[in-house]
Amino acid sequence: MAEETMPSPLRQKPVYRFAPSPNGLLHLGHALSAFLNHDMARDNGGRFLLRIEDIDQTRCTPELEQAIYDDLGWLELAWENPVRRQSDHFDAYRVALDRLIDAGLAYPAFLSRGETKAIVKAFEADGGLWPRDPDGAPLYPSVDRERPEAERAILLAAGQQHAWRLDMEKAIRAAGSPLLWQESGDGETGKIEAQPALWGDVVLSRSDAPSSYHLSVVVDDALQGITHVVRGMDLFHATTIHRLLQHLLDLPQPVYHHHRLILGADGRKLSKSEGSTGLAALRAEGATPSDIRRLVGLL
Ligand code: GLU
Repeated sequence: MAEETMPSPLRQKPVYRFAPSPNGLLHLGHALSAFLNHDMARDNGGRFLLRIEDIDQTRCTPELEQAIYDDLGWLELAWENPVRRQSDHFDAYRVALDRLIDAGLAYPAFLSRGETKAIVKAFEADGGLWPRDPDGAPLYPSVDRERPEAERAILLAAGQQHAWRLDMEKAIRAAGSPLLWQESGDGETGKIEAQPALWGDVVLSRSDAPSSYHLSVVVDDALQGITHVVRGMDLFHATTIHRLLQHLLDLPQPVYHHHRLILGADGRKLSKSEGSTGLAALRAEGATPSDIRRLVGLL
């Protein structure tokens, strides 16, 4: 990568990271992730890093970033400084995106959310079943992938708003043989085969943000020398995309541990709007850091 120097794997201690987004207050699910990363780093003689994933500048705020520091400080988790804040590193993600564009693996995607929805709706109204990704979202239609180069050039020259998407079929062909990742989490373990086709043409940079979660996470994990990614089971399938991007961008691959999720009273994954399980709310009610460890099943 041009912007920063890649750490040498030979001199590396295990490196763990907790990577929250400051688009809401932290809850018990975040606490479990943060505790696990912190404790594994401590137990394995490793480092514990904090990364602020704030590429979505429309939803992330400095106040919510400060709340993350307050909550983690209260939980007595000591992280290394400086903290990497993604919005300070858009250049690094652009370098990676340009590499994929130059390799012919990414194309400009002009459809708005509404247009995409309308295409899917019209197809399903005719009785078809539009394919969906592992998160249940419809795969991106092929219109932009099939758009003639001359038409793309005209739209780009006219300053038409666009995202960049990975041409998944080409990317899979470029990868060649199946890609695997090493998993040690609470679900399926061992060597897991990535299934990139399930995701379709994933977004690499958005029309309203100069990167995407998938692109920035793999770039940052590499630049920060992350050796162990410990995160919630909800991101298990996203690892497929991360493995593919690591391969296409020649980035080292960490090992993965996707942990159980903390569920709400309704049996669903906690959301950031659920005040009762928010760490700040629990703290205000007099809970101690040990209470939080107990509540997430670590004591
Ligand atoms: N920023 C993501 C989240 O808050 C986590 C990303 C990761 O751990 O890879 O859900």
